Amino acid sequence: DSKDFDSEVDSVCPFCGVGCQISLKVKDGNVKYVDGINGPANEGRLCVKGRFGFDYIHHDHRLTKPLIRRDDAPAKGLNVDPGNWQEFFREATWDEALDMAAGGMKGRGREVAGFGSAKCTNEEAYLFQKIIRQGFGHNNVDHCTRLCHASSVAALMENVGSGAVTATFNEIENADVAIVIGANPTENHPVAATYFKQFAKRGGKLIVMDPRGQALKRHSSHMLQFRPGADVSMLNAIMHVIVEEGLYDQQYIDAYTENWEAEKAHLAGFTPEKMSEICGISPEMLRDVARTFAGAKAAMIFWGMGVSQHIHGTDNSRCLISLALMTGQVGRLGSGLHPLRGQNNVQGASDAGLVPMFLPDYQSVMDDGVRSAFTEVWGSEDFSNEKGLTVTEILDAVHAGDIKSMYILGENPAMSDPDVEHARDALAKLDHLVVQDIFLTETVNFADVILPASAFAEKSGTVTNTNRQVQMGRPALPPPGDAKEDWWIEVELAKRLGLDWNYSGPADVFAEMKLNMGSLNNISWDRLERESVVTYPSLSPTDPGQPIVFGDGFPRADGRAKFTPANVIAPDEVPDAEYPMILTTGRQLEHWHTGSMTRRASVLDALQPEANCSLHPSTLRKLGVEPGGMLRLTTRRGTINVMARSDRAVAPDMVFLPFAYVEAAANILTNPAVDPFGKIPEFKFAAVRVEKA
Ligand code: SF4
Repeated sequence: DSKDFDSEVDSVCPFCGVGCQISLKVKDGNVKYVDGINGPANEGRLCVKGRFGFDYIHHDHRLTKPLIRRDDAPAKGLNVDPGNWQEFFREATWDEALDMAAGGMKGRGREVAGFGSAKCTNEEAYLFQKIIRQGFGHNNVDHCTRLCHASSVAALMENVGSGAVTATFNEIENADVAIVIGANPTENHPVAATYFKQFAKRGGKLIVMDPRGQALKRHSSHMLQFRPGADVSMLNAIMHVIVEEGLYDQQYIDAYTENWEAEKAHLAGFTPEKMSEICGISPEMLRDVARTFAGAKAAMIFWGMGVSQHIHGTDNSRCLISLALMTGQVGRLGSGLHPLRGQNNVQGASDAGLVPMFLPDYQSVMDDGVRSAFTEVWGSEDFSNEKGLTVTEILDAVHAGDIKSMYILGENPAMSDPDVEHARDALAKLDHLVVQDIFLTETVNFADVILPASAFAEKSGTVTNTNRQVQMGRPALPPPGDAKEDWWIEVELAKRLGLDWNYSGPADVFAEMKLNMGSLNNISWDRLERESVVTYPSLSPTDPGQPIVFGDGFPRADGRAKFTPANVIAPDEVPDAEYPMILTTGRQLEHWHTGSMTRRASVLDALQPEANCSLHPSTLRKLGVEPGGMLRLTTRRGTINVMARSDRAVAPDMVFLPFAYVEAAANILTNPAVDPFGKIPEFKFAAVRVEKA
C-alpha cells in the first residue's frame, strides 16, 4: 500500500536487456519492495531477479569511500575482500583519488585504454568513450558487447545496415511462426519468454533450436537439439529446401535485396541429407521446418549467445538474416530479426559509441566527416582514424607492453574474459589501473585506485533495451557514504585530464548526444521524464516510436539488404582423446554475469547459493558421480572443481557451466579464440576433460 512507503519511484530493472519497468518502494532510506509497472516491454510482469534481486544496493560490501593502493601493499592479484581490504588499500578523499587516477593516465596517449559498462546509463557510456577519444586521441575503448552480440551486430551492420533489432519482441503477438535459436529465454530473458509462451498458447508455431534442451521445448511445435557448433549446416540445409522447393519470396528479394543469385548457388550443396550428418537433425525435420517457416504469414527470428559466441558467430547471424530476407520476413507486422540483448543497457552503450570502431550511432571512426562533426561539438582536436582495439585485443596489447594504464568502469574482466588467467596476468602487468565500481570485484585485486560508484537506484539516466526503447531511470536514493554518480566521476576525471567539460547533469549530456545521434530525433530528456519511454526511431515529438523498421528498404547505400553466404566451419577446439567432451557456458535465471550483484541479493543467493555444472544423468553414471558430487573439469587453459547436477536437457557429451561463480570460475576454462569479424570469443565451445574430483 502506498501509505506504507515514504516514496515510490518509477525506474528500469538493472539486469537484462528486456528492460522491465519497475516501481521502487522506499521506506526509511531503503528500497523495501519492487513492483512491475506498465512498461511497453513488460506490462507489469517481472522475473525473480527484477522483483527480488534489488537488496544488493544496500549490502554492507558497497564501496563508500575512494581507495588508493598502499605503498606497502602485497602483490597485485591477491584476493581483496571486505575482510582484508585495509592490507591493500587506504581510504582517500575524492580529490586525492581523482588526482591519482588522472595522474596515472594523463599524457600517455596510446598507453591508455578503457572498458566502459553496459550496466551504466547512455549518458555515462557516451562520456566514457569521449574521455578515451578526446582525452587520449584514439579509439581503444570497448565494453562487454564484445563478449555478447558483437558478431550479431557485425552481420546486421554488413547485411541490413543497422545493428539493432528490426522489430520488438512483443511483435511476436502478430506472428504465426517464430524461431528461437541459441537462446534460453525462460532463464535469460524471462519476461520476453512469457510473450513467447502466450504466442504458442494461441497456436503460434514456436521452433526452438538449441544444443541444450530447455523449458521452451514444452511450448514448441519443433525442437531441434542440434550438435553444438553446427548452426550453419542446419540453417543452410533449411534454406536449401526453401530454394529447392521454390518457397522463397521472389518479389521481396527483387525489391529489397542484393546478391541473391550468389546465395542461391551457394546453398545448392547443402542438402538436408548431407547436413544432417553434421548437425544431427533428421532431413525430414529440416524439410518440415523449412516449409513451416517459409509458409508463415508473418515470422520472427530470435537469437542469443548460443548463436553469437562462436568463432563462426557472424556466419551464424548471416544465415539467420538470409533466411528472413529470402522469405520476406522483415519490416512487416509480426516479422523481424531480433538478437535478444544481454545487459540492461548493452544496446544503449553500443549506440552511444562505447565500441572501438564506431562513434555514437554506429558512425565509423574512419570517416573524416564523422570525426569532424564530433570534434566540432566537443571543441577538440581530431583523433585517430584507425579502428581501436577490442576487449581481448586490449588485454593482448597489455601483455605486449603497448598498453600500460587502464580505466575500467563497471566491468569485471578478471572474471568475464575468456581464458581468465591470461586476462588476470594482463591486469597485473598494468602499471596503473583505475576501477570504478560499486563492490570490490575480482578486478580490484589489480587496481591502483578504486572509485566508489552508484547503483541504478541512485542516479538519473536513460537506458535502451533490446527493443530500441529508450527509458528513463530515476533515483530513489542517494549513493551510500561518499560514493558518487558515475557521470560525476567521469566529468571530474576528465577535468583533471585537462578536458574542458562543463556538464551540470545527465540531461546536459543527453542534449549533447542528440547533436550527432539521429536515432534520438524527437526524443528529448523532458519527453522521457514525462513519458518514461520512447522507442527509436520516433517520427515526431508525439510518436511513441516505431516498433518495426525497414518496411520500405534498408539503411544501406542502395537501400537494399544483402545476402552473405556462409560456409560450415568447425569450432576452434574440437574434442579429442585428451579432452573428449564439450564445455559450454552461460547464465542461470537467478544470477547475473559475474555474480557481483546477484550473489549479494539475499533471495537470489538463497535460491542458487553454490557453483554448479549440469551433465546428462548417463554421463554422471559413467563417471561414478552422484548429483551433488564434485567434478574436476580441465581444459587446455586450466582446471576447476565444481558440484555436479543431473540434467536430461544436456547432451551426453556436454557440460553446461554457469559463469557467475568465482570459486569455480568458468572462464578459467574457456577458449579465447575469436570470430574474425565480430572479435567475439568462443565461450560456447571448448574441449574439456571431466573427472570425479
Ligand atoms: Fe529484469 Fe530482465 Fe527479469 Fe525483466 S526479465 S525483471 S528486465 S531481469
